[in-house]
Amino acid sequence: MDITGSVALVTGANRGIGRQFALDLLERGAAKVYATARNPHSIDIPGVRTLALDVTDPASIAAAAAAAPDVNLLINNAGVSAHQNLVTGDLAKMHAEVDTMVWGPLSVIRAFAPALERNGGGAILNVLSAMSWFSYDGANSYAVAKAAEWAVTNGVRLELAKHGTLVTALHMGAVDTDMMAGFDIDKLPPSEVVRAALDGVQAGRLEVLADDWSRHVKAALAGDPSAFYPQTVPA
Ligand code: NDP
Repeated sequence: MDITGSVALVTGANRGIGRQFALDLLERGAAKVYATARNPHSIDIPGVRTLALDVTDPASIAAAAAAAPDVNLLINNAGVSAHQNLVTGDLAKMHAEVDTMVWGPLSVIRAFAPALERNGGGAILNVLSAMSWFSYDGANSYAVAKAAEWAVTNGVRLELAKHGTLVTALHMGAVDTDMMAGFDIDKLPPSEVVRAALDGVQAGRLEVLADDWSRHVKAALAGDPSAFYPQTVPA
């Protein structure tokens, strides 16, 4: 997948990691970048085409797909973290996470898959998280959504292989954006994550692990859960 000369569409491009994707795509010579957001007036990047796109709204998705028939690189970035626990948290907020990060990107993929096929196969990059693979007390519902989005990514990859569409999964730990503003921990700069992701797409990789934490979490899946979650082992 050659990013130079590509026609890319980014969801949630008005801030955070999505905004960085739009900037870097331009920098790497994409022929056209559709920067999309729920409110397109909130996009402040010179040189992009702005489009309205709410990934939870079927009419909005259909309108964006009609307005951008030349896309060959789709970046599903939009996301939300409601910081809910499963047993006591607000179910409506959990549904919103799944709508935004599971059914949303799947609906966007379904709308754009024919264009990707028409335009030579192209690529889809799904912005997942190390939390596809671990739970965190205080944000367990987010992990549910990201784990399901990972399954969507794997399934869509199988289904679109016959079209020649590359489907790449991006995983990483905390990144310095609004989403993590309330957490005083080490965070990756969005530029580092986006560089790793676009290098991975360019190289045709199925998975990008953008930091040591995501590599550690993935490796830990091979072990017994008691090693990763010692606090859950009965005394
Ligand atoms: P931000 O909170 O900074 O940005 C979230 C973006 O998603 C905004 O552009 C927001 O738009 C958009 N968005 C939310 N809901 C919708 C919707 N229904 N339709 C369209 N756009 C929507 O978060 P990040 O930039 O950090 O997150 C980007 C992605 O990276 C997400 O998928 C997130 O889960 C993932 N991620 C983030 C990590 C982090 O530590 N920050 C770590 C691992 C993964 P609006 O301005 O309208 O709200």
